[in-house]
Amino acid sequence: MLKFQLVFSALTVLALSSKGQFVDKVTDPVDYVNPLMGTQSTIELSNGNTYPAVALPWGMNFWTPQTGKNGDGWQYTYTVDKIRGFKQTHQPSPWMNDYGEFSIMPVKGMKFTEESRASWYSHKAEVAKPYYYSVYLADYDMTTEITPTERAARFRITLPKTDSAFVVVDAYHRGSYIKVIPSENKIVGWSTKNSGGVPANFKNYFVIVFDKPFTSSHTWKDSELTDSTELTNKHVGAIVGFASAARGTQVQARVASSFISIEQAEQNLKEIGADNFETVEAKGRSVWNKTLSRVSVEGGTIDQVRTFYSSLYRMLFFPLKLYEKDAAGRIVHYSPYNGKVESGYMFAGTGFWDTFRALYPFLNLVYPSINKEMQEGLVNDYKEGGWLPEWSSPGYRSVMIGNNSASIVADAYLKGLRGYDINVLYEALLKDANNSGPIPAVGRQGVEYYNSLGYVPYDVKINENAAMTLEYAFDDFSIYKLGKALGRPAEELKLYAKRSQNYKNLFDPEHKLMRGKKKDGTFASPFNPFKWGDAFTEGNSWHYSWSVFHDIQGLMDLMGGKASFVQMLDSVFIMPPTFDDSYYGQVIHEIREMQIAGMGQYAHGNQPIQHMLYLYNYAGEPWKTQYWVREAMRKLYKATPDGYCGDEDNGQTSAWYVFSALGFYPVTPGTDQYVLGTPLFKKATIHLENGKDFVISAPANSASNLYVQGAMLNGQAYGKNWISHTAIQKGGTFSLSMGATPNKTKGTAATDVPYSFSTDKDKP
Ligand code: CA
Repeated sequence: MLKFQLVFSALTVLALSSKGQFVDKVTDPVDYVNPLMGTQSTIELSNGNTYPAVALPWGMNFWTPQTGKNGDGWQYTYTVDKIRGFKQTHQPSPWMNDYGEFSIMPVKGMKFTEESRASWYSHKAEVAKPYYYSVYLADYDMTTEITPTERAARFRITLPKTDSAFVVVDAYHRGSYIKVIPSENKIVGWSTKNSGGVPANFKNYFVIVFDKPFTSSHTWKDSELTDSTELTNKHVGAIVGFASAARGTQVQARVASSFISIEQAEQNLKEIGADNFETVEAKGRSVWNKTLSRVSVEGGTIDQVRTFYSSLYRMLFFPLKLYEKDAAGRIVHYSPYNGKVESGYMFAGTGFWDTFRALYPFLNLVYPSINKEMQEGLVNDYKEGGWLPEWSSPGYRSVMIGNNSASIVADAYLKGLRGYDINVLYEALLKDANNSGPIPAVGRQGVEYYNSLGYVPYDVKINENAAMTLEYAFDDFSIYKLGKALGRPAEELKLYAKRSQNYKNLFDPEHKLMRGKKKDGTFASPFNPFKWGDAFTEGNSWHYSWSVFHDIQGLMDLMGGKASFVQMLDSVFIMPPTFDDSYYGQVIHEIREMQIAGMGQYAHGNQPIQHMLYLYNYAGEPWKTQYWVREAMRKLYKATPDGYCGDEDNGQTSAWYVFSALGFYPVTPGTDQYVLGTPLFKKATIHLENGKDFVISAPANSASNLYVQGAMLNGQAYGKNWISHTAIQKGGTFSLSMGATPNKTKGTAATDVPYSFSTDKDKP
């Protein structure tokens, strides 16, 4: 209760100190984060498909209250009334589901099955912070509090006066082990629950140490209680008793896990050391404040500030640290590829199809040191598994398309990250680009067609072939750019530069859209540009036709020049949200999210079209980008449980907002450029890792003054529709004058447009 009041008063003070509804200065950004943003989601409609992750940035494990049944990807749903456990989770998305999970639940009476132990709770008696979670379990008159470190956590359970308080440990139902050690107030075990692609010996080992002796202890399997102190079976757990002489008595527990062994879990428990609950909490709060403070914003509404930091919070989890520190202090990891303990970094829990677009570029801009570790992790993925992952959760998963690891590797190096073996990664890119992998989503499915015909045909039983072709072409561009930076042979550069133009093979001049093509060179018929899936991935031709990230000028030329290109862009918003769902046989949630947004065919709830709003800049009409970007920020994001417009997807959809709020977006990862939009705040500062500050200043900014009238970079007039990574890295100030009407002369010259391969004078 005390906790609740403290947090509440901190927010009140902040709100009062801001002038009117504006927040002048943010000192503790973590106070603006709402971890419940996006949690009001279902299979039919995603408002984010998130859960409150109680964890440190990129921590190895996260904690979440669990309202869903064991194994349900919707582990916490805002509208569900009962909590059945507090779950250690590594889940990147409900669709990918979890691995190695187990849960802890205080109860009154010996209720240990997941149905019988569930308790009513209310959001009114819930505090969700990135570093702290608390909830009142009404059926038991108990409060559970959790505060995490990277691989461990502290629990504090406040009891009523009772002689029958218990804590249930549930090691889940895909093969588990439990051992109660009453002499040490300890429970150890493992969970083999796994939705990923991992070796048979995969286990998440855990250790839980209480600060009070057990009054009783049992193990259980399925719904049967046993007196054994040790048990292994399909679904096992433990239940241990505590006595409370007075209401308010507390039981505390320290919990840690390891993918390596119980001994290593004990080692990871040392992260807590002698820290009491308050100290772990204070340290967690400080880590979050420090990490979030790398970008500071001023002069926005409290809602905008909350949305900004809630989104930034979502960008700081995945891929999570799968590595651990052994007793000698060495970095080690359980290899999801060979089942051995290997040295060095390893990360898991991201789909590059989503995150190559903006999440990784954001890491390269603001948090390059963590991406350097991630790149080292990719070196280990390749060494241990023979391929780069495209969707690791952990290991290789056969889901989504593309070979977008090429963009992840190329953008990091080209944005200046160093200190890892780029040559091994480049070798991996060449291998993956020229071979189909052990599963469709590793390497390149349809590579033999792509490399001979220049596209993956529609009629060779490979679904989503047009989407594949478009993404492979961009991936080839990424390889070309990286190869060039690495001084690779001219012939090799020429090959990938040429392949980067393969998008042209699918352009249908009749519809001015991308279209599936058959092996014989004729287009697939009939063609319905509103058909989702089929030749495309979770989108239709209108969404995917813009997926020429590296050559928008080339696409514009195909569409018939500037006017025609702009007309095509405008059409996305003008058309009704017509759809054909026959490929899926049902309205998938991404379709529904487009249909209900009131933005025509614009489907911001899924990733393929998210860069589209920025493309007006290439055609000399940047004010239309400014209008639509502000509109999308206003309509589609709120720091509320229904606050996203589709799956958040491991930081990608949040990265769109955070970049856009800063005033630019990485349309073409692998180049030095960010394409300009319109900043959301009067002032934003990026505190770069190199010690420099880059300030985006727009003092006249407001809801109506959304149009950029003019720009100055470090005091010099700046007319381009893009800003370079190099310029930002130098630090300085980007000053924008803002107004309520578009400046239709700014950004219209041919020299103002962002990078396109077609106009690249250095191309081979
Ligand atoms: Ca998605």
